[in-house]
Amino acid sequence: MTISFGHNLPWGGVNPQEYKRKAQDLRHGLAYRLHFAALGWADRHGHAAFGPGKLAALLGKDGKPLSVQSTNNAIARAKQLELVSPSSGAACLVLPTYLFQKGKGAPVPCRLHSDR
Ligand SMILES: [Zn+2]
Repeated sequence: MTISFGHNLPWGGVNPQEYKRKAQDLRHGLAYRLHFAALGWADRHGHAAFGPGKLAALLGKDGKPLSVQSTNNAIARAKQLELVSPSSGAACLVLPTYLFQKGKGAPVPCRLHSDR
């Protein structure tokens, strides 16, 4: 897949391992941690799929997962801030193509977007 954000527009790369780490850094607000998680785990189509409870565990503190309510609130806030696509949920965070494109890698199946 060729990466293009528009004719002659420059693009760069990110280190997904660092974004996985940042997603678990409690110093950042939850909405931004979700954005970091999406960047860290996104597949070739910008989908970051998480197994049941995985995202809440990732966002939790001291080994205790974030509550379902707090996880859903954080996702709603991240959508409001356009940090993830409106189709995102706890099972899969999605990055819009104007924010994220990836040249390689296989798509990962997710529970939320079985139609893609
Ligand atoms: Zn998905």
